[in-house]
This record gives sequence, structure tokens and C-alpha cells, in this order.
Amino acid sequence: MERVYNFSAGPSMLPLPVLEKAESELLNYGGSGMSVMEMSHRSTVYAAIIENAEAKLRKLMAIPDNYKVLFLQGGASTQFAAVPLNLIGRTGKADYVVTGQFSKKAYKEAQKYGDIRLAASSEDKNNTYIPRLTEDDFRKDASYVHICFNNTIFGTKWDYIPDTGDIPLVADMSSCIISEPVDVSRFGIIYAGAQKNMAPAGLTVVIVRDDLIGASLPGCPTMLDYKTMADNDSMYNTPPCWCIYIAGLVYDWILDDIGGLEKMKEYNMKKAAVLYDYIDSQDYYINPNEKSARSMMNVTFVTGDADLDAAFAKEAGNAGLKNIKGHRSVGGMRASIYNAMPVEGVEALVEFMKDFAKRNPKK
Ligand SMILES: *Cc1c(COP(=O)(O)O)cnc(C)c1O
Repeated sequence: MERVYNFSAGPSMLPLPVLEKAESELLNYGGSGMSVMEMSHRSTVYAAIIENAEAKLRKLMAIPDNYKVLFLQGGASTQFAAVPLNLIGRTGKADYVVTGQFSKKAYKEAQKYGDIRLAASSEDKNNTYIPRLTEDDFRKDASYVHICFNNTIFGTKWDYIPDTGDIPLVADMSSCIISEPVDVSRFGIIYAGAQKNMAPAGLTVVIVRDDLIGASLPGCPTMLDYKTMADNDSMYNTPPCWCIYIAGLVYDWILDDIGGLEKMKEYNMKKAAVLYDYIDSQDYYINPNEKSARSMMNVTFVTGDADLDAAFAKEAGNAGLKNIKGHRSVGGMRASIYNAMPVEGVEALVEFMKDFAKRNPKK
């Protein structure tokens, strides 16, 4: 079986043992005589699948009991609207920090629902850093503060959790969830599209503190109201059954094979270091970001020459290092090295980088 190293930002690689397990259960899940794709979400066999997924995510992230875990659809982008619809009612105001493209989209979407203030932005330096913020940077009467914890496109990550005092902190963690431990109790809401680090596209996970549920705006669609989904254990309507099943297998893989999130973080740090250490050791490739803001999941680099960048992405693809081309707003290359990317893939990339630099001296 030929498998490539897929550096796609999302949908992205899934752990091979997870794919193999899903394959082995594909036609006849647990003696049910059918695939998970075919079974009723109201069946007892499926109930065990969704209960396992929730229990394992709770264990993995040490999610406190006063938080609900919701398995939703619509992608992280739907949460850009769902967050204000559910949370802004308290004061009509919210503060946003823009550190990249997705946080900017969230900031713009929220403007439909209330008085939205830009508390800080890193756009002045093309989002190459994370602003240093304190409680004083936020309005005392904001209903919540929104940040994007890992900026998938620019390859930066918050290296601290901003102190927002009593104001609930909402974080888009689509591209870093379950890559390392986080203190869930510091957040009012954590949400993530699953297709970066958890499951196939189609599932969005929302972890929300109990007291933030039940005060949605009057016009909030039933399907976007966290209360609807919390009251119905994410089964008000048909949930993304297959994605939840795969997410459960991914959580099992981290718990049982990797040994939990501390171990996952160690492995991810080791992988990221292979790439960053090489980048720092030479001057052919440059990572544009401040060191303190470097993402462990999305590593960007440029040669400084658009033609060389294009040649790199093409030749890397031919060598089995797929989807390395950077996002058009940054240019150059981006290696997304989520949980499922093995260290061997990152080592192969660095070998290719060395070889490419030797073969293509800059003028
Ligand atoms: C990919 C991504 C999104 C968009 O997710 P969808 O599920 O496609 O809506 C939002 N935020 C971040 C940080 C992302 O990486």
C-alpha cells in the first residue's frame, strides 16, 4: 500500500491505526451486520459510539463536569455566528482579537449581532506575532472575548492564555485541539472543526460552560442554539454519525497508543523542532514569524523567490510530500504537521528541503 506524507492544512492525515480499524469494521460494525454509515443514530449500537466519543474526549482533555460537549455540523465557520447568537445577549457587546484570517472572519460575522470591538490585531505585521494583552485591553462589559488559538494560515499560536478576568474567553481551536493539554477551565467556549486534528470534515466540536447555555438572542435559529443541542445530547436532529465514530477512534488512539495529551505534545514538539531547527540553521528558507508565536501544527516558510516556491511545492508533491503549498495570503510553503503526521514525514521533508536548496542556488 502506497501512502504519501500529506501536509494538507485540512482535511488532513488521520492516524493509520484509526483508518485500519475503521476499515476492519466497515462492513459489519460490532456484529450489527451493517456499517456505522448505515445505522440509525437512535439505535443502541450507535448510542454506545457517541457516548464513547464524548467520554474519551472528556478524559483526554480533562474537561470539567460543568462543561457540555456538543457534536455539531456546519464547520467552525458556523460557530462564527453561533457564538454571538448564544453569548452576546447579556450586554450586546463583545471584544475580538484578530491574529489571522479565521479570527478576522469571526470578527466580521459577529458584527451582524451586536457592538463588536477590535481589542487588538496583529495585521500591522502580517500576523507574524501574537499581541501581549492584559485584562485592561478588554471592555469590562463585554459579553465575551474571542480569539483564534492557532492561526492555521499564518502558522502562529498563542503562547499564553489571555487573562480576561470574569469575561468568558471563547477560542477557535480548530487547528490545535488535542495537540497538547489545555486548561479548559480558563475558557468559556472552545470550538473546533474536526477535519484538522480529529476526524473527517463534517463534525464541529463545541465545549461550552453550562452557565453560557440558555441565553441566546430571540432570533437565534433552533439549530444554532446550544441549548437545543445540549438538551438533546447533540441528537436534536441527525448528527454527523460517521465523523463522531472516527473522532472516537482518534481519541482512543491518543489515549491508548500515544498515552494521552502530555505524550502527544512531546511528540508534536519533537516533530516541529525537526523543521524549525533546520530552518534556523540556514538562510535559504525563512520562517517569517516571531519565535514566541510559532505554531507547532502549521509551519510556514518561504524562499523569498516566488518561482522557487512554486518549483518547491511542485517537486515536493512529486516526491510524495503532498499539499505543501502555502495559503495564497502568505505565499511560500506551509507544512501542516498535525497529530497524525509521523516524525518520519517531517524528516523526509527536511531532507527534501536540503536537497532542493543544493540543486537550486539563489542568484
Ligand atoms: C479550518 C479553520 C476554520 C474553518 O473551518 P470550517 O470547518 O471549514 O468552517 C476556522 N478556524 C480555524 C482556526 C481553522 O483552521
